[in-house]
Amino acid sequence: MENRSYKIKMNGNGIQTNGIHGNGIHTNGINGNAVHHVSVKASIHPAKLKARRQRWNVKPSEMAKNTLNPIRAIVDGMKLTPNPDKPMIALSIGDPTVFGNMPTDDKVLQAMKDAIDSQKYNGYAPSVGYYKSREAVANFYSEPGAPLEANDVILTSGCSQAIELAINVLCNPGDNILVPCPGFSLYKTLAVSMGIKVKLYNLLPEKSWEVDLQHLESLIDDRTACMILTNPSNPCGSVYSKEHLQSLLSIASRYCIPILADEIYGDMVFPGCTFHSLAPLSSDVPILSCGGLAKRWLVPGWRMGWILIHDRNDVFGSEIREGLVKLSQRILGACTVVQGALESILNDTPQEFYQSTINFIKTNAEICFSELSTVPGLNPVMPSGAMYLMVGIEMEHFPEFQNDVEFTERLVTEQSVFCLPATAFEYPNFFRVVVTVPEKMMVEACERIREFCARHYRPRSQDSNELDQ
Ligand SMILES: *Cc1c(COP(=O)(O)O)cnc(C)c1O
Repeated sequence: MENRSYKIKMNGNGIQTNGIHGNGIHTNGINGNAVHHVSVKASIHPAKLKARRQRWNVKPSEMAKNTLNPIRAIVDGMKLTPNPDKPMIALSIGDPTVFGNMPTDDKVLQAMKDAIDSQKYNGYAPSVGYYKSREAVANFYSEPGAPLEANDVILTSGCSQAIELAINVLCNPGDNILVPCPGFSLYKTLAVSMGIKVKLYNLLPEKSWEVDLQHLESLIDDRTACMILTNPSNPCGSVYSKEHLQSLLSIASRYCIPILADEIYGDMVFPGCTFHSLAPLSSDVPILSCGGLAKRWLVPGWRMGWILIHDRNDVFGSEIREGLVKLSQRILGACTVVQGALESILNDTPQEFYQSTINFIKTNAEICFSELSTVPGLNPVMPSGAMYLMVGIEMEHFPEFQNDVEFTERLVTEQSVFCLPATAFEYPNFFRVVVTVPEKMMVEACERIREFCARHYRPRSQDSNELDQ
């Protein structure tokens, strides 16, 4: 009799040994996070298959087919052939590391080196993260009115996984979520693939991208499971006032809707502006606040994120927490080396690092804003934080182009400058500029955009000509 050996990862309790016949399995030891050897007697044959497939027919699942990244869908469909006479300037990539001009702090690197050298972080951590690392995050983000303990923190693989877990724990297929428009496209990508509907609420460019509260409220129905707020915002760079956040909370409170606060750009606000995290302002609305190292510490590739559970009046209670813990067991969360470095990253990074990062971003945003606001046909909206700036296009003055996609496509062909058309954020007639590029590039890009617009601008549309006559 032949014995086959299987390795089964036992992750806490409740892991199923799917696919292996129930009998004949011997697990050496119970539970814990260890790997167990299991022997299966090969003599136990599966029952004769009834309808054997005659040919291969392997197709992607419905979930895979329903997983759509709108940015890819739009960018991949664009004809992006730069002008060979001008070097390409990509203002499209929301990754502050691409030009090498914004290194992270030495302390952050040292923390990572120390974590590796200690050899203490090569194994599996609990699926929600090491207690010590969660405690460090809790201490870092605790505020009066919104205290946090280690057990209120779940470490995840980037803020993206934090968002995924948060949506997953709050929503069932058929439910809907409220998502900002323009907004970060991941929310919709995740929700749609899980059979959750997305309702887009409008942001108002003329009010520095504040939420159209009436519109938001009109979208709520009995299947609304959660409201997503992005503050500071990608793609807008907006930062909400305390009063505006309170208005949003009062709507959530009236309809008893929990909030997913995407605060990955938390504290990345320009001097003179204040960031208010949502949780301390809430007296009754429960909040899952998602964040991570990616943007503020300039290490998006390290894939470290977190959920901060701000329960109010025990609305989430133990069930939502347990749900999050269960969901975290699907992937076993964040890289353990980064977890090992986390406490030191949070506690030892000097204030000057954060300040110089934000000063650099602000300077670039000001250059971009002041340059583009004097370009006929463009309406940039000055940001207050994060690392983006949105620019409105008066399409009626650019009759050669149907929309922002064609506009930005031709900007590449003629000027080798690539900005993301805001159709990628479901917000046509705008484009987004990433302002983390080196200053010289920013200046050069703005000059080229000016030249491009001057060439294609038509002072009056056909319609207004007719009206004038
Ligand atoms: C970049 C970004 C994220 C994702 O962060 P990761 O930690 O890299 O997964 C989440 N939300 C917003 C608004 C972002 O811009």
